[in-house]
Amino acid sequence: MLASLARLDVDVSEIQLGDRDALLVRGTSPVPSGSLARIDGVERVVSVDDPAPLASETKRSGEGVVSIGNARFGGGHVSVVAGPCTIEDVSMLRRIALDVRAAGATVLRGGAFKVRTSPHAYQGGGSDALADMKAVAAEVGLPYFTELTDPRQVEALGDDLSGVQIGARHMQNVPLLREAAALGKPVLLKRHMGAEVDELLLSAEYILEAGNDQIILCERGVKAFGKHVRYMLDLGAVAWLKARTGLPVVVDPSHAAGHHSLVPSLGRAGIAAGADGLIVEVHPEPETTRCDAAQALSPVDFTQLMRDVRAWVEHDGRTLCGAEALEPRPWGADANGATRAVGT
Ligand code: PEP
Ligand code: MN
Repeated sequence: MLASLARLDVDVSEIQLGDRDALLVRGTSPVPSGSLARIDGVERVVSVDDPAPLASETKRSGEGVVSIGNARFGGGHVSVVAGPCTIEDVSMLRRIALDVRAAGATVLRGGAFKVRTSPHAYQGGGSDALADMKAVAAEVGLPYFTELTDPRQVEALGDDLSGVQIGARHMQNVPLLREAAALGKPVLLKRHMGAEVDELLLSAEYILEAGNDQIILCERGVKAFGKHVRYMLDLGAVAWLKARTGLPVVVDPSHAAGHHSLVPSLGRAGIAAGADGLIVEVHPEPETTRCDAAQALSPVDFTQLMRDVRAWVEHDGRTLCGAEALEPRPWGADANGATRAVGT
C-alpha cells in the first residue's frame, strides 16, 4: 500500500486510531479519493473537509477508553481525578492523596508548574514539587496527572509519568501539544475559557495527528456573564463532544464553580450530562494554600460527591472505577455517617 502511495505526489504518516491503523495522506493539490480507495488494503478514505477529521474518526471505532492504572475513562467507565490545585508541601500532598484515594479517586492531580493569570500569583513549586508528586503517587499507589506548561519540562517529568494535563491557557500552544503527544501517555486536554468546542477538537487533532489517541477532553467552563461563578460550565459541550467523537470527556467542576459550595452541583451535573469522569480540587485546609483556595472541596464534601457520583453512574448502568473504596452509606445517612430521618 505504501508503495502505491509513493507513486502519488503525497506525504504519508502512519497513526493509530483506537484499534485501527490509519494513514494520513496529504498532497499539495487535492488527492483524488477515488484513486486512494482503489489501492489494495484501503478500507475507507476520509476527506479532510471535516474540520476535525481524526477526532470525528475516533467515533467510528466506538467509544474510546483511556486507561491509567485502575482508572478507565469512557466505554461505560467513569473515573475521578482529585488532589490539590498545586503541590506545596509533601506531607499535605500525602494527606490529600490518602483522603481522595479513600473516597474512590483513582488518579491524583496536582500542579508543579502553574500558569497563573497574574505574574504576582504563586507560580508553583517546580521540579521539587514534581519530585514530591512522584514520591507520594508511588507511595499511595495512585497514578497522577500534572500540567505540562513548557516543552523543556519533559525531561523533569521522567518515564514513570502516568499522563499530562494541558491547561486551558495552553490549549492552542501547538509545540506543547506536539510535545505532550510525543510522550505517548494519556493527555488530559482542557478547553480554553474562550474557545469554541470545534477549536478544542482541532487541538485534539494535533495530538491525534502525532499518533497519540490517548486523549481525555476536559470541559472546565468558559467566560461567564457576571461573577456568580468563576466560569460557565458548558454542559452542552459535554453532550456534543460525546455525540461527535469517541474521545472520553471529563468535567472540571472546581475551576468552573470557583467556590466550593457550587462544586458538588456542577460535578453531579457533569456526570448526568454524560461525562466519563471528573477532575476535582480537594484540600483539607484551604486557608493554608496559595492557589485556588475558594474552590477546594473538603475531604468530607468530596466523599459525599463521590457517593452521589456513584449513585448516578450506577443508575445509568455505568461503572465508577474505585467505587469499592467508598464505604457504603445507609440511605438517609448524612455525609458524616449520622442517620437522619427520611421523609419528615
Ligand atoms: C488546574 O487544573 O489547576 C488549572 C490551572 O486549570 P485550568 O487550566 O482549567 O485553568
Ligand atoms: Mn486550580
